[in-house]
Amino acid sequence: MTKKNNNNNEEEEFVSFGHNLNTKIRFEDADEDEVAEGSGLEAAQDESMCEAGESTDAAEVTDDTTSADYYFDSYSHFGIHEEMLKDVVRTKTYQNVIYQNKFLIKDKIVLDVGAGTGILSLFCAKAGAKHVYAVECSQMADMAKEIVKANGFSDVITVLKGKIEEIELPTPKVDVIISEWMGYFLLFENMLDSVIYARNKWLVDGGIVLPDKASLFLTAIEDSEYKEDKIEFWNSVYGFDMSCIKKKAMMEPLVDTVDQNQIVTDSKLLKTMDISKMSSGDASFTAPFKLVAQRNDYIHALVAYFDVSFTMCHKLLGFSTGPRSRATHWKQTVMYLEDVLTICEGETITGSMSVSYNKKNPRDVDIKLSYSLNGQHSKVSRTQHYKMR
Ligand code: SAH
Repeated sequence: MTKKNNNNNEEEEFVSFGHNLNTKIRFEDADEDEVAEGSGLEAAQDESMCEAGESTDAAEVTDDTTSADYYFDSYSHFGIHEEMLKDVVRTKTYQNVIYQNKFLIKDKIVLDVGAGTGILSLFCAKAGAKHVYAVECSQMADMAKEIVKANGFSDVITVLKGKIEEIELPTPKVDVIISEWMGYFLLFENMLDSVIYARNKWLVDGGIVLPDKASLFLTAIEDSEYKEDKIEFWNSVYGFDMSCIKKKAMMEPLVDTVDQNQIVTDSKLLKTMDISKMSSGDASFTAPFKLVAQRNDYIHALVAYFDVSFTMCHKLLGFSTGPRSRATHWKQTVMYLEDVLTICEGETITGSMSVSYNKKNPRDVDIKLSYSLNGQHSKVSRTQHYKMR
């Protein structure tokens, strides 16, 4: 699953999305009051991943779809799927999990939650699944149907167009649930809830969920150049003070690639989620951390990233979206600090991070970060709030 592009200096996607649909359409552009006044934006936002509408045949989709259809449903456009499919770290891992562990899939009934183009279902069909139910709520479901047919798997794969929470599955139980539900900062867009819903409703006792583990990590980076470019920029724009925007920019974690040379401290595990057991409430948590500086440097931001693993495989498989690993489309999530910390090797930043879904829009994530450094050159203790949206 892919999410938003948080590069604030890029053209706004909904203006340019005819040209660039590889990124999720964002909503900050709408005036907040407009949303609060019920312009209809808010309701549509909730539906941002699932504007399926009536089932249509493929010819109709290509003929009738206008840019307005993509405004709230970026997953209906092929661009976002192209980006995900071309993320080989992501897609190859799923392929390896399935092809190298056929014993997990062969003769099993599989449910693919959020099938997109149907790629994971196709992998499973090829690995000998007895039947695959591919559930997809966006218009891409029509393409998935055609793709399944074109590849001769119509007998094995049934594509169901609709939300997992709303469809009827023509089988009481499934043996395997597979899904690529991960968002930026792991949890953005809250598709994990849909996987948990499917698991609770249809997974047979002793059935498996792929992937079954996801972990969130935190580290700290030097980032003076980019902080200058993204945050301090607002202090003087063509000579005008726009620093009110700076406060907003600070609150929005930046999804971008961090160079591993920027890493100043070690990394700490914040939270591991067991997708086969957890309840949806477990995705909200508070976790303490203690980051130890590995050199003398300045710290401008804390950075979060995640790993996922498939522990049911014969040999453990998975991937990391961390700055020391091969880049993925999830990049990393950068949270700028109000203060520049001057840290000496061996000193520690201690604190805690609280993560919860936004009450108004449960696809958004609220993050509360408390941190303190009692160092030789910096003595800081502060709490900052961020919103992934
Ligand atoms: N499995 C595909 C697509 C992953 S992206 C792949 O690996 O390439 C996640 C997909 O889940 C999107 O296409 C999105 O439209 C779909 N989706 C999100 N929430 C859903 C829900 N509640 N019900 C059905 N599909 C959903």
